[in-house]
Amino acid sequence: MSWRSGGRLRWAAAVPFALVGLFGTPVGAGATTGARAPVERVVEPAEEGVLVPSYEAGLTPDDENMQAFLSQNAVLEDIAAYASERVVLPRDIPLHAASCGEANAFWDPQARDITFCYEYLEALAPLLAEQQTEGTAQERSAQLDQDLVGVTNEAVLHELGHALVSLYDLPVVGKEEDAADQLSALLLASGDERHVGYALSTITAYAALADAAAKGEEPLKAYADEHSLNAQRYFNWVCWLYGSDPDRYAPVVQTERNPDGVLPQDRADRCPGEFRQMEKSWSPTLKPYLKT
Ligand SMILES: [Zn+2]
Repeated sequence: MSWRSGGRLRWAAAVPFALVGLFGTPVGAGATTGARAPVERVVEPAEEGVLVPSYEAGLTPDDENMQAFLSQNAVLEDIAAYASERVVLPRDIPLHAASCGEANAFWDPQARDITFCYEYLEALAPLLAEQQTEGTAQERSAQLDQDLVGVTNEAVLHELGHALVSLYDLPVVGKEEDAADQLSALLLASGDERHVGYALSTITAYAALADAAAKGEEPLKAYADEHSLNAQRYFNWVCWLYGSDPDRYAPVVQTERNPDGVLPQDRADRCPGEFRQMEKSWSPTLKPYLKT
């Protein structure tokens, strides 16, 4: 059974956000010459909390490169500013980028902080690169940089979902992992072009992970994991992006007339309702900002 019949969800448009390159322009010895200074972003101290970013030193050369890439592009600061625009945080939440010894990102309910592991991007980078089949080598490298920023946004906002469930003691009916995915998708899909681009990077990443899983034997324990399977997360994200604006994303729906669509019609029919339900479920934590 093909989990993704027909075409692939393409980028709607190049995302105009110049990055200090990791793959586009190597970051490292001598390569920082001419690099842009990190974007100055002031996160307003308010009564409510903010995400407080920090970049811990990488413990391996690859981690050092990821640390430089993320910090020089002020990626965590950008996510913190975006989260502050959209979500009411009940307290400050430290947001560390760090070497973890595993490809992961997590909310720690005891320490009440979020950790994003450099290894997560290192694991995804080659899979994302395989998904880039069009454009010049330079364009593909630049796209890969964009995708790495995109999946960082996705992972941090997912962990923010866990943080909000924990800090607000929110009731979650169903899997908390799916609820956390939904918050991330809600915030990115309802954002500006750049954040919608991050949602598309996320979809590309889940396509890559599902492709990798399809090539190998899916270990039985994958089904015991609390996360939905990567192919399911892929279709969920496509569904939610479509559901956020069905007219705009109509081409993703697979029909007789549009065999290149990726989202089966049966699921597509329910996606606008799923998206509205997500907004409603998360609304106690959201600022009145989202389009309706
Ligand atoms: Zn999670």
